[in-house]
Amino acid sequence: MYFRYMNSLLTTAALLASPLFSGILSTLLFGRKPRRHQVPGVLFHSVVPTTGTGLSHYPLDQFDRLCTLLQATSFRTICVKDAVDAPCAAADKQCMITFDDGLDSVYYHALPVLESHRFHATIFCLGNFFGELASWDIYANNRHCSREQIRDMSDRGFEIGSHTVSHPCLVYMNDETIKEELLGSKHMLEDITGKEVCSLSFPFGSWNRNIWHIAKECGYTTATLYRGTPYGNERLFPVHGVYRFDSPQDILDKITTENSYSIQLARSTMMSHFAQGTPVWKYRKEYR
Ligand SMILES: [Zn+2]
Repeated sequence: MYFRYMNSLLTTAALLASPLFSGILSTLLFGRKPRRHQVPGVLFHSVVPTTGTGLSHYPLDQFDRLCTLLQATSFRTICVKDAVDAPCAAADKQCMITFDDGLDSVYYHALPVLESHRFHATIFCLGNFFGELASWDIYANNRHCSREQIRDMSDRGFEIGSHTVSHPCLVYMNDETIKEELLGSKHMLEDITGKEVCSLSFPFGSWNRNIWHIAKECGYTTATLYRGTPYGNERLFPVHGVYRFDSPQDILDKITTENSYSIQLARSTMMSHFAQGTPVWKYRKEYR
């Protein structure tokens, strides 16, 4: 009797731990199929030298340690626009470092560290609020990069992507307004950098197939996906949100663990409602 009990217990444990069962469970819970390997990416909002209160304010010394760790483990970084053509085997050890919102803390603190490690990154900027406080944010205490800072980042080899004009939740907007947000920001940022802007990050990670279709019509070729969509395709790249309490090793684990999206997705969805930089959205009259 005891052995039969232990046997069934072990069988159940083995089943729960098996990749097949995890895949089925993930598909049932999230309606997704296990993804093929894509170039993994991480999403930061701000990097700060002193410990702040915001969950999305990542400490500068930890950011420096992360870059050292990536270099020590032979990781290379690529921009989002280049991820389409990148080799996509896990052994290729490539990753994308991205920053949403184009905040000036990234310009002042993250870029010098990235440059010291010869790392690339993509910074998704808004087409509005240049040099201003983030009034679209319910916290509104972060400052955006100025036009000059955006041009300088582009000249120094960092990719400038679009995060729309005014950081709306696009799924609540009509097609015409979505197009204004996507095309308007693309043109504004292209005027500043003198380069084509072809990568997009959806504010609040909020998107659907129709919005991506409009984005492609506007000339975008790649986009990052944050919370809500763990599995992309060859042009849509899921990125892991990074928060203050993530150690450099935690971040490396996010990048290197193939099937971590179920847990990461749950955590990102929860955190995005609390972290400064990715808060719940303010109600806007343009929303349908
Ligand atoms: Zn944002």
